[in-house]
Amino acid sequence: MEYDFLLVGQGICGTLLSRQLLQAGHSVLVADNGNPAAAGRVAGGIINPVTGKRMVRSWLAEQLIPFALTEYQTIGAELGVDLVKQCSILEFHATREAAALFEDKCATEREYLEPLSDDTSWQAYFMYNYGVGAVRQCLIADLRALVTGWRRVLQAGGNLLTANIDAADIERDEQWVYWKDVKARKLIFCDGAAGAGNRWFGMLPWSKDKGEALIVSIPGLPRQDIYKQGVSIVPWHDGLFWVGAAHDWKYTTEQPTAAFRNSVQEQLDYWLKLPYEVVDHIAALRPANFDRKPFVGMHPVHDNIGIFNGMGGKGCSLAPYFAQQFAAFLTDGTPVMEDVAVGRYRKVLSR
Ligand SMILES: Cc1cc2nc3c(=O)[nH]c(=O)nc-3n(C[C@H](O)[C@H](O)[C@H](O)COP(=O)(O)OP(=O)(O)OC[C@H]3O[C@@H](n4cnc5c(N)ncnc54)[C@H](O)[C@@H]3O)c2cc1C
Repeated sequence: MEYDFLLVGQGICGTLLSRQLLQAGHSVLVADNGNPAAAGRVAGGIINPVTGKRMVRSWLAEQLIPFALTEYQTIGAELGVDLVKQCSILEFHATREAAALFEDKCATEREYLEPLSDDTSWQAYFMYNYGVGAVRQCLIADLRALVTGWRRVLQAGGNLLTANIDAADIERDEQWVYWKDVKARKLIFCDGAAGAGNRWFGMLPWSKDKGEALIVSIPGLPRQDIYKQGVSIVPWHDGLFWVGAAHDWKYTTEQPTAAFRNSVQEQLDYWLKLPYEVVDHIAALRPANFDRKPFVGMHPVHDNIGIFNGMGGKGCSLAPYFAQQFAAFLTDGTPVMEDVAVGRYRKVLSR
């Protein structure tokens, strides 16, 4: 079995890169081990232009968000499913200080932030004393539908292998990379958090970050927007809501924890006026980089082994844009943006 590319992993990275490569006319095999706790199976799918407690503009928001919207709409049309929804994040200010910070930020982020200070229309659903602010031009991407839909396309085309690729079974020479009876001109790791233990790329500055979410039924809560106060409540599959997510760099277990569940329930009990029921509790590791920028490109020494990873907590907005850049590089040599090129770690990767 001979291919131009063997991709290891079919999360959002493997999905979007394989699609670009197939569209450019390459032969591609994607291997995935179906890890149920992969980040993409747990993510809320939020894409927001202004993030964090300090309400900072997301890196490249002006390019990434419109690009992601068009890309998800296009792929959704190909797959016959809705993959993206445009929405706002409604911030229910927990303190007077949080409300004041939001008002201040509105002056510099007019395009994205709007104070709705006198809006009392949410009083039937939430407890709030300091007003509401809206973050506009947000998206919710449906990663599960994307990955599942694309898997069907790969399967139908004979481009999918359900298998765990153990690095110990990979061999390479100047021309080919070999895995069992598969032979490819290039192998690209799209293996998410597992990449931190990868033989070729494990020495990159990984900063794996555990996140958890509760899947909750909240009958009667409108499903247009995302609600936020400490936690985010995001419309999810099957009429349910996703409520998350913590960031934990010092985790002692990769499993869901009682501490997270209790703290989220405490917050919901205080903030949400509607009755709710927890139906699931999920957790995964975000494949993050210390400098918060992705790893994209070919190994500076072993040049037929590459990586498309390091999306951290922003895979939904970063992966579409950089999948296109990486595929262009792999097709005609157009360089990827220097900020994400894995060549910036040449020294550490050459050791
Ligand atoms: C709780 C939580 C909430 C999040 N919320 C958001 C959000 O709202 N918005 C956002 O943009 N991002 C969010 N993220 C981050 C987002 O999930 C990631 O950025 C994204 O999923 C990373 O995609 P990936 O393809 O690199 O990795 P993954 O989704 O982990 O996919 C890797 C794939 O590789 C496979 N694999 C791994 N090793 C092997 C191997 N050796 N052989 C074969 N297959 C292999 C796995 O089974 C998996 O399918 C969240 C993450 C978490 C954990």
